[in-house]
Amino acid sequence: MTKSDTSKRRIVFCDFDGTITINDNIIAIIKHFNPEGWESLAERTISTELSIKEGVGSLFRLLPASMKDDVVSFGISNVRIRDGFAEFIAYCREQNIDFYVTSGGIDFFVYPVLSQFEIPQDHIYCNGSDFSGERIEILWPHPCDGHCTNDCGMCKTTIMRGFPEDQYERIIIGDSVTDFEGAKLADKVYSRSHLTTKCKELGLPHTEFETFHDIIAAMNEERKSSS
Ligand SMILES: [Mg+2]
Ligand SMILES: [Zn+2]
Repeated sequence: MTKSDTSKRRIVFCDFDGTITINDNIIAIIKHFNPEGWESLAERTISTELSIKEGVGSLFRLLPASMKDDVVSFGISNVRIRDGFAEFIAYCREQNIDFYVTSGGIDFFVYPVLSQFEIPQDHIYCNGSDFSGERIEILWPHPCDGHCTNDCGMCKTTIMRGFPEDQYERIIIGDSVTDFEGAKLADKVYSRSHLTTKCKELGLPHTEFETFHDIIAAMNEERKSSS
């Protein structure tokens, strides 16, 4: 299989927190509202004692649902978009590359933040939220399939398996260890931060980026060298 296999449709799976955005929004929200006990839950999640699903679910359960307006508006206003993202969306459209967001983030900040870009709603995968009870409850509409036992919450590899490798050239863009399983399935990996470290440790081919301009440049280079 070559990188320029024209019989396959190119598809991008792009992470949100720390990839499309500069910062990690879930931790920023929890830190800002600072509910009693969040630090130990965060530590136990980072150390993988808790799954991402258990960790994120319990972190938000520390916040009363009555704080909805404050939590939502902080979540949206806290986001900073990484340079070149709008240009990358336009580039994908021009190059006929399918663009999907695969985010472990929550609907109440992911959708509003992405609404300024031309991304169809059904190309955005993230977790949900329910403010109707006493506490904020995170909902998990995209759980792990039978091939994944990580209890991801929003399972990136499950989404990727919906786009089989014999039909798609799968490209993943991400920044953290939670993107690594997807990176293993992908034909091409664009990485920054912890994902780069992990790819290096385990010898997985990857291209480092800092802005989306870097990814456009790398993709153009590859087209040139393969044509
Ligand atoms: Mg991330
Ligand atoms: Zn999973």
